[in-house]
Amino acid sequence: MPSPRPAPAPAPTPTPAPAPAFEPPPASDAAWHARPAADALARLDTTDHGLDDAEAARRLAEHGPNRLPQGKPRSALMRLLAQFNNLLIQVLIVAAVVTAVLDHWIDTAVILAVVVLNAVIGFVQEGRAEQALAAISTMLAPRASVLRGGRRETVAAETLVPGDVVLLEPGDRVPADARLIAARGLTIQEAALTGEAVPVDKTVEPADAAAALGDRSSMAYSGTIVASGHGRAVVVATGGATELGRISAMISDVETLTTPLIRQMEQFARWLTGAILVIAALAYVYGVTLGGYDYAEMFMVVVGLAVAAIPEGLPAILTVTLAIGVRRMASRNAIIRRLPAVETLGSVSIICSDKTGTLTRNEMMVRTVALPNATLVADGVGYDPHGVFSGEGGEALQDLARAVALCNDATLRRSDDDNWTVEGDPMEGALLAAAMKAGLDLDHEHGVMPRMDAVPFDAAHRYMATLHHDHSSRPDDAPDDAVVFIKGAPERLLTLCRWQRGPDGRQPVDEAAWAERVESMAGQGQRVLGVGRLIVPAETTFLSQEALEDGSAGEVELLGLVGLIDPPREEAIVSVAECRAAGVRVKMITGDHGATARAIGEQLGLANSRDVLTGPDLEKIDDATLVTRAAEVDVFARTSPQQKLRLVTALQANGQVVAMTGDGVNDAPALKRADVGVAMGKGGTEAAKEASEMVLADDNFASIASAVREGRTVYDNLKKAILFLLPVNGGESLAILAAIILGTTLPITPLQILWVNMVSSVALAMALAFEPTEPDVMNRPPRRANEPLLNVFLGWRILLVSLLFVAGVFGMFQWALWIGLDVPEARTMAVNTLVGMEVFYLFSVRYLNAPSLTLRGVVGTPAVLIAVGLVFVFQLIFTYAPFMGTLFDTRPLDFGHGMVIVAVGVVLFVVLEIEKAVRRAVTARRAQGRS
Ligand code: ADP
Ligand code: MG
Repeated sequence: MPSPRPAPAPAPTPTPAPAPAFEPPPASDAAWHARPAADALARLDTTDHGLDDAEAARRLAEHGPNRLPQGKPRSALMRLLAQFNNLLIQVLIVAAVVTAVLDHWIDTAVILAVVVLNAVIGFVQEGRAEQALAAISTMLAPRASVLRGGRRETVAAETLVPGDVVLLEPGDRVPADARLIAARGLTIQEAALTGEAVPVDKTVEPADAAAALGDRSSMAYSGTIVASGHGRAVVVATGGATELGRISAMISDVETLTTPLIRQMEQFARWLTGAILVIAALAYVYGVTLGGYDYAEMFMVVVGLAVAAIPEGLPAILTVTLAIGVRRMASRNAIIRRLPAVETLGSVSIICSDKTGTLTRNEMMVRTVALPNATLVADGVGYDPHGVFSGEGGEALQDLARAVALCNDATLRRSDDDNWTVEGDPMEGALLAAAMKAGLDLDHEHGVMPRMDAVPFDAAHRYMATLHHDHSSRPDDAPDDAVVFIKGAPERLLTLCRWQRGPDGRQPVDEAAWAERVESMAGQGQRVLGVGRLIVPAETTFLSQEALEDGSAGEVELLGLVGLIDPPREEAIVSVAECRAAGVRVKMITGDHGATARAIGEQLGLANSRDVLTGPDLEKIDDATLVTRAAEVDVFARTSPQQKLRLVTALQANGQVVAMTGDGVNDAPALKRADVGVAMGKGGTEAAKEASEMVLADDNFASIASAVREGRTVYDNLKKAILFLLPVNGGESLAILAAIILGTTLPITPLQILWVNMVSSVALAMALAFEPTEPDVMNRPPRRANEPLLNVFLGWRILLVSLLFVAGVFGMFQWALWIGLDVPEARTMAVNTLVGMEVFYLFSVRYLNAPSLTLRGVVGTPAVLIAVGLVFVFQLIFTYAPFMGTLFDTRPLDFGHGMVIVAVGVVLFVVLEIEKAVRRAVTARRAQGRS
């Protein structure tokens, strides 16, 4: 799957635009980085409010979409030729040449037909798998925040045009090349362009005209990632015209369809092929010297042996199984970014999940407001701002409502059907609704108290502050005052605040009383925010985080607390239970308050939600202690992103396979470290997505659980495909070897083996890729990460089935001769026996341990029935069609003989079912003995 680098859309290059009415100056002459910001805006014919929608649409038509011209995909011809880059095919081509030289023209034709057929099937299947994966990668198309006509909007990054004003926030990927017009503590990680991993500072001041790419501090380049701070920039170049576009023409990244298991199997197949060629050579020498075969005949025999033994269909079938698994996961909202994750998911033993939005619904609502002298309860539904508070809040409520409404980046929208939705952070949306319930007119508030500056929220410092000028008493004049509003985690606010409103004027804050109120709100599972206010001199235009925290900005007044409810998702509760049954431990890691986290953890049914470990606790314990504590505890509260990294590391030190969710830019290291990093698709930053193996389209915990289930299914199905194909090849090659050694006639000719391997086996094995999840898949413990694929059990099964196949095929052949059929007839019997046994073995292998003779087992999957039907028709044609008789030397069989063949299949099936039952009994006995 093409990795979702800046332009993952696998679409053709933009169509040439009609003559543009607006043409950005050519890059060389523009030297955007050296021009003042205002000059850049003017040249691009735009303002710091951005373009309006109509102009943006017009420019989009002119410039084409903002995506990189696609690196040339592998041409169809190259893909077809690649099919011949396969040792077996090459062996066959040599065989075709030799048979032609020996004048066996029919053999030559059949071999060549098989070669071509195999190449075409591989070509088509591979193409479909690639297509499926490409379709999935477009689901990850990046988005960008722009100002259109002064309003903030989120649009597909593809629709950006020169002149658009984009907003840059931590974790965003810069969507196009842009000249900064505002920057606040902005640093950008430009490794994608310059290879330099340390983020560089960005400012609005023009850079030196001669500055190298990495020193153009006034520019933000497409594909780089905002590490911290905020900024606004005007787009100067899009798509192929960006710096990244220039270099990306040179990079082509073809990611192959592979995972560790598939690589292991490919290696195994190569090794096996080598061994088989050696054995074939030895057999040839033996045959012509001691065996008494003639040269030409013996050559065909060893070709048959090689063809019989090499599992040629296996790699293709594994690839298809994987692609189907990825597609199934995508349909359950789990988008795989790196294919090996599909397998890893199957062995995940711990899922560390965020709380807000992943385990909870993230549809917040303000329930409690704690004011200095009253506690109020709000009613209402969702984000609908109609509702009332339970009591009179008076001015104290007004002040708090104003603070949370203005220290806020979200907007509420009312759709046509009177549904209220949030653009931005749901918690902030809930605060807006509450402010309106308190009677505030938001437009008016924004008008009289414009924001001058802000300290954005960050999971590391856990508060947000904004600076406003207050024009409320003299609207047209200079401000009377400037006000700072702060909202954030209550502990933070309590350390920042000195005062609170008292009966007569202000009084020192009563920390103990507030802390108690926080505990009681959090204990009900509410997310608690503290709200503060600070009056500063009217001329203040700059808000410094340091000055706020060291108190030099002034003494903050605590306005009160807000408690928001955010109930757990129903499906998360179900999934947590499912994970527990599957031996997967769910741990919640949240920035929220300990008591809130515990309450939610209990509602979710986590294994151990009583024992809460908080960030400050974590700081106090050393790594060795953490390894034991991390294993016991399921609820981690008030954690910082750095602590997430420590946690994953500690859990992995216990030998666990960890899946970890994250959304912010600071989560990236933990996501990278986790065995399966899981980024949020909706609320996650590009930085988090880039660091992850998997992206959740719906941000929902339940999707992780279904991905684990699918991961286990894929692994099972890969295993079944291997277990199905290897004994068939084993049986065939042993049958031929036996004939050579015993010096008897071959029970099956090489051409007939080609038919079985390339047609019947492939059709049947393909059905296994579609096999649904086994019912018990989420009731067994996770596979150990280092568990070898072929353990003693599977090795034994392969050997047993190989021997049964030899017995069936060889036995049938001898019996047919014995009852007086001629050799071609006996061989036709033998081939059909082989295929018949394959069909019955397919039903057996579908359930590795459980009985297969159930209604679900027999008619459960359409894919299996279709495959069996197809193979039945193929075998009828193979046996009765005269031209098949010419090509493969087959003969029509009696109905009675056909029944004998089916009976042999039934016997195989019964023997294997007995073996399974015995094995189950033994395992159960052993398990009993142990407990
Ligand atoms: P979570 O793990 O629940 O997503 P966060 O790290 O987002 O936690 O938030 C941690 C705490 O920071 C919250 O409990 C809340 O007190 C505070 N907080 C969260 N978002 C904001 C915001 N936008 N403004 C101010 N404070 C916030
Ligand atoms: Mg959060």
